[in-house]
Amino acid sequence: TNRITKNNLNERVDLPANHDELYDLSSGINKLLQRIENALERERQFTSDASHELRTPLSSLRGTLEVLIRKQRTREEYEDKIKYSLSEIDKMTETIEQLLLLARLDSSRKPDKDEGVLLPALIDDILLKHSTSIESKKLSVDFKNAFTSNVLVPKYYANLILDNIINNAIKYSKNKTTIHINLYDSEAGSVCEITDEGIGIKTEDIPNIFNHFFRSDALEHKEITGNGLGLSIAQKSADSINASITVKSNMGKGSTFFITF
Ligand code: ADP
Repeated sequence: TNRITKNNLNERVDLPANHDELYDLSSGINKLLQRIENALERERQFTSDASHELRTPLSSLRGTLEVLIRKQRTREEYEDKIKYSLSEIDKMTETIEQLLLLARLDSSRKPDKDEGVLLPALIDDILLKHSTSIESKKLSVDFKNAFTSNVLVPKYYANLILDNIINNAIKYSKNKTTIHINLYDSEAGSVCEITDEGIGIKTEDIPNIFNHFFRSDALEHKEITGNGLGLSIAQKSADSINASITVKSNMGKGSTFFITF
């Protein structure tokens, strides 16, 4: 049988020879337990935040429909309320899709072999995808490529990073301003710098913007719709390919995101 007896214990398990080693072992186990505890706590917090994030638009949707059913309305009133309900449903769908994406980034279901794409071409594609919102805010894009060689990046992850950061640059820009995109080589790697002339981020908010569901409570930010998941997705994607994201911002003047591949 496989029973451990006093006699075979020493040969079966490499027991530490002295107390110091035993102490190291036990403090190592404690650290591991602490990390598991912390991860579980983060998980609990995430579930509670996600439920809250979905409950708010659901209650508002319910309220709207209850008011509609209570008495006869004009055709315009019906149309108005139904349009509002549809936009709430769209927001919830977007949040659910982003939550699924975050879960996928955490799991092993991510692509192992991410195909490579030229960074400038990827940025062109993302700008094209957002051209309607760029035009409707009358924004200009100043895109400069100073790479001295072809820079290939993993398509799936680089797209998630840049799409979210460029989308934010557009969303938080003031109308009729310019978004500057600069590509250049640095000692740390290939850098993509994205600068907007938008509302900026409060210094005390900067450490939090990559957290799940974080949205600045600055008044200017509250008028812009979002769910606080875009930058968590960008950060998780960057972690997956050892890229880094750093931020500089000036409240009222604008922000710059540096992505180093
Ligand atoms: P959201 O959906 O709210 O935009 P993100 O995770 O993309 O979520 O961003 C988190 C928060 O960081 C935003 O709510 C906003 O307060 C701030 N933020 C991100 N990018 C910018 C930017 N370019 N300019 C100003 N604030 C920004």
